[in-house]
Amino acid sequence: MLLPVTCPSCFEIFEVTEPPLSEVPCEVDYDCEICCRPMLIFFDESDGEVWAEARGLAD
Ligand SMILES: [Zn+2]
Repeated sequence: MLLPVTCPSCFEIFEVTEPPLSEVPCEVDYDCEICCRPMLIFFDESDGEVWAEARGLAD
């Protein structure tokens, strides 16, 4: 499964691979596929559905 996330730097939307439900909540380092800037992607779940939210790294 792929989850859409919005890059906090360029605001483009790209897709990341969804982690197994047993592994959330978790966070991963990720580089934007469009602008290549680093970010953290937080994965969590609600009602059995995994969701993702990208956050920029602190300057
Ligand atoms: Zn980006």
